[in-house]
Order: sequence, then structure tokens, then C-alpha cells
Amino acid sequence: MLMLLVCSAVLADSLPKDSMMDLAITNARLVDGNGQVRSGAGILVKDGKIAAILTSGKTPLARRVIDAGGATVMPGLIDTHVHLCVSDTITDDVSLNRYMREVVTGKLSQFLDHGVTTIRSMGDPEDAILDLRIRIANGEIPGPRLQVVGPGITVVNGHPAVTVYGTQPFLRERSAEEIDSPESAARIVNRLADKGVDAIKILYEGSDDPGNAPPNLMYQNVWGIDNVPRFSIETLQALINVSHERGLRIVVHAVDEESTATAVALGADELAHGLADEPVPVSEELTQKMRDHGIYYSATLQVYAAIAPAKLDNASPQLKRVADAGVNVTVGSDTFGRLLPGHSTLREIELMVEAGLTPALAIQAATGNAAASLGLDDTLGSLTLGKRADILVVDGDPLTNISALRNLSAVIQNGQIIRVDRALTN
Ligand SMILES: [Zn+2]
Repeated sequence: MLMLLVCSAVLADSLPKDSMMDLAITNARLVDGNGQVRSGAGILVKDGKIAAILTSGKTPLARRVIDAGGATVMPGLIDTHVHLCVSDTITDDVSLNRYMREVVTGKLSQFLDHGVTTIRSMGDPEDAILDLRIRIANGEIPGPRLQVVGPGITVVNGHPAVTVYGTQPFLRERSAEEIDSPESAARIVNRLADKGVDAIKILYEGSDDPGNAPPNLMYQNVWGIDNVPRFSIETLQALINVSHERGLRIVVHAVDEESTATAVALGADELAHGLADEPVPVSEELTQKMRDHGIYYSATLQVYAAIAPAKLDNASPQLKRVADAGVNVTVGSDTFGRLLPGHSTLREIELMVEAGLTPALAIQAATGNAAASLGLDDTLGSLTLGKRADILVVDGDPLTNISALRNLSAVIQNGQIIRVDRALTN
């Protein structure tokens, strides 16, 4: 008891004095998600939350102690855009269940291993993904905290229904929701809201060949398919209005200036791919509107680097322009199929720095900004008293070399140590 009092006396004022901590991280250089850096600091964790930020160098009383040895300690990473169930092996309920059990569980572990402690699934079959969200939340399956949108909503015969899932009728029916009117928009959004999704994702974008396609088309002459259609303005407006009436944010896939400007003007909350098909610099008028409307913008650079490198020439400078204009940028990797879970998230962050963002802003995009875009900024995204203890220990200084994020020596989620290098623990 005397020992506890002595220790308490040298700790932060906010330290609860009534009980032993679950975990202490000492000798840390704290890089919180909001641009603050503090050396010689520490964190105390109790009941899965940050119980105190320490400013003294004393070793506190805790069941587990991680001596960070001066390494960087920062919030867990958040990836706002991943797909867990894109595979041509999923052809019926039996193979979907098997895939969830045998493949998705492995993907979830890979995210955690790379320090990604929260993800948002886009366009995955709603019943399977909602069930997975419950199982992760109750600790049955290890994995990043999961938000879900269910199927991506598109127009009848739109993308990804006839493109990605053109030869996969089972997934086409479950991963894309094809609608053709404001009435069907309301029906689908209400159904997803009733089931408890965290946001709505819609696919609305201009032609892949700007300037050449009429505005009612999403793609022209790509994927070997002529003239993939897109929503009418009335249907787009209904999707946005009903989502907002149900308290859900709406994430829009739009990749040229015209369709992006339309979505922003009608009330979109997030842009899921950046202006990847727009070679002309995004106008000041649109960047100002994005900023004024509080839009969250992710550029999915790593998916372009992996499968469509030419699009990086548009997407990277456009990301830099919107970030310079003060638009909230977030990390969304669009990891799907064979792209490596977790590694792709780190690659996205590196590519954001290669595009000209500072490492500090790229880290904020993966932590504080991403948490805010998911509506989780009360509980995640920074090393702040009372927030969930999702914490990484990183060798080196990611503020000067972003690739230091690859050198993880500890991953903590909800106060539980997911992995830790043995040298750091007592
Ligand atoms: Zn995607």
C-alpha cells in the first residue's frame, strides 16, 4: 500500500489511486494522432482504456510493463476502406461460410499484425459481415474493430455489379445492391439502417474517359463492357437524404470532378477514391466546397499502384491539392482480393507521403481523421485520457521516415497486448 502511494505521488494527477493498472508503457516518445509529440512519457491502461498519460520517468505499478526504450508510441491505425469477401471461390452460402471461417479470419489477423486496429468493410455481404462484426466485438474472433456498410449501392447493371461481379451471380446479389429509382433507394437504405450498418456506400462516378461519355454513364468501354450506367440525380439525392434521415453518413465512389462536385453539392460526407480519373487539377471552387462541407477524402493510392498505376498520376497530385486546401484526408486502402491486408494500409500511408503529404499529416489521416470519419473520434484516434487503448510501439521515427511504421514492436488493442517483442517486456 505504501508502495502504491509512493508511486502514485510521482504520477500524473489524473491517475486513479484505487487500483493497479493493467498495463504501463514507459520511456516512450508519444506521437498522438493530433500532431503532439512528447518524449520521456508513458501511458497507463486500465479496463481497455487509457487511464493516464505519464510525464515522469518513474516505473508505475502495473500487471504488465512495456519499456518502449525511447521508441515511438502512437495510436492504432484505422483503414476506412477494405473488402474482406472478394473471391471467385465464393459461389454459394456454403463457400461463403467457409471463406469467412478459413480466409477472412486470417486477413483479420494480418491487419492486427500490421498495427491496423480498426477497419471499415465496404461492399461485403451484409448478413455475413454483420455477424462478423458481432463476433469480433464480443471477442470470439480476434480482429480489428469492424465497421460495416453492407453492399455497395449502385444503379441496375452498374459498377461493381456488371464489372467486378459480372461473372459471379452469388456475390453480385449480395455485395452490390442494384436500384433504379428514388423509391428503391429509400427502401434499400432503410433496410440497411434497420439492420444496423455504420454507414452507406454508393457507387456514382463519371466516365472512365472524361469528356467523352454522356453524364448518365459511369464507365464507357472499360472492363470489356460498353456503357455502364449510373444513377439519376433524383436517385442520388434520395440516397443521400434517406441516409441522413437515418443518421448514417454516406460514402461516395466518384472519381472525376463533375461527379464529385455533384455528390458534394447534394450532401455526400466522404469520397472513397479521390479524383483518380481527373487529369485536370481539381478546381479551387470544389476544394473549398469539400473543406466547407467537412468532406473526408481518401485516395486509395495503393490500389492504383497495384492494379492501375497510370491513375496514380492523377490521384497523387489531387490528394496533395485537397490536403493543402485543408480538406480532411483519411486512409482508405481499398484492400481486396489478393492485396495484402495491413501491409496495403502501410503502403497507402507511404504513398500519401510520396504524394507530398507530411508524415505527420499521413499519420493523422490514419488515426485522428480516420476516427472522425467513422464517427469514432470520441473513443479512438489519439492517445488521450479515456480513449480506447489501441496503441502501437514503433522503432524509429515515422515523423521523419514514414516507413518506420513497418518496424512495429508492439500492438495493443483495447488494452490487450496482441503482439510484443520480448525485449520490451518484464
Ligand atoms: Zn473499394
